Amino acid sequence: MGARDTVIEEYTAQLQACMYQYSRAIYRSIKDLIDPYVAPELHLEYRRAVLEECEQTMERLAKDPLYFAKPDRALFQDIRRYFPITAQAEVAWTVKEGVAAAVAFIEEQIESGVLDGGVARCRATTRKGKPCQRTPLPERDYCPSHQHLERSKVAA
Ligand SMILES: [Zn+2]
Repeated sequence: MGARDTVIEEYTAQLQACMYQYSRAIYRSIKDLIDPYVAPELHLEYRRAVLEECEQTMERLAKDPLYFAKPDRALFQDIRRYFPITAQAEVAWTVKEGVAAAVAFIEEQIESGVLDGGVARCRATTRKGKPCQRTPLPERDYCPSHQHLERSKVAA
């Protein structure tokens, strides 16, 4: 294992710690909105479930930032049943803001190039014969400069 791998591992650990903070932040802002009219033990269970869903969403986002479409909506769909109708709009908004902050953070990390460990790369080879280092378009195998390769592959 080279020094570069160690660096990537450290960044991954840091990223996970940051993601954990984002999920805690979302949880903290919505936990008091959880349905107050359920039995106390059920209420506790609801809280645990909401926290778990927040954490799972952030974990998935950290692992697969380019291929996780609409993470805020996915999270809201998973947790909305724990909230009364009157709180749904606020929960949806809080989730959207919280997830957007996490996504912005991850994108920053990707752009600064520290995340190439688990992050997808364009599949093209440059004219010099080296693998292209750019980030593919969402849900594609190629970056914007090489996207024509994808089309020709589909046509073939
Ligand atoms: Zn490329």
